[in-house]
Amino acid sequence: MSVGGDDIAGLSLLPRKARPGTGRDTKIRVMTQRDIDPLRLPVAPFAADAGDLAGDWAIAELPRLAESECPPEGAEVGAHPSAERANADLSRRVRWRVVGSLRPVGGQHQIWLAMTADADVVLQCQRCLLPLDVSVAVDRQFRFVEDEATAAAIDDEIEDEVLVLTRALNLRELLEDEMLLALPLVPRHDECPQALPRSFGDVDEVEAAEASAHPFAALAALRKDKGGA
Ligand SMILES: [Zn+2]
Repeated sequence: MSVGGDDIAGLSLLPRKARPGTGRDTKIRVMTQRDIDPLRLPVAPFAADAGDLAGDWAIAELPRLAESECPPEGAEVGAHPSAERANADLSRRVRWRVVGSLRPVGGQHQIWLAMTADADVVLQCQRCLLPLDVSVAVDRQFRFVEDEATAAAIDDEIEDEVLVLTRALNLRELLEDEMLLALPLVPRHDECPQALPRSFGDVDEVEAAEASAHPFAALAALRKDKGGA
């Protein structure tokens, strides 16, 4: 819950570094970007160098995210014939950027990564089951610590994510985790493009799904049911 002064200072690093004019930083960035494999990111040296890495991956390269998308085939869908969909998958990409930093706190340096990403994904509307275009954005800060015990101890104290330091971080997996967390729980059109078939998209069904995703809402519904019985 508490947002410490160091968090605020760390957040302000991003826009400052994004601005041109810091010639030294720019040179380091170009050198490191060429040498660094985002699938095996050396987190501590990257943060120490104030590393700044950006790129993009096809959604098809993020299998869990790709599976979360609207099924490409099936009677209801139709709008995306599979060949067309395969080409579209390679052109549809997740754009990302990761910036490392060391934050001096109490005579020590905390290791942080800031990740931003965005993509346009095709989800299945839970009301009409037709494809639905959704823009997904990620903006997260990760603090890296030495071991699980430290991570567990700090996790409750800060809002940012705490991860155990590794020599080679798979950025693509971390990015995919964050993209999945950023997806809407119950995707649906503001206005569905087709009249709803009777058997699908029952409003009660959608609301029940939503309620089950929100524990307090589910609890409230339960209480209401019991009260009425
Ligand atoms: Zn719909």
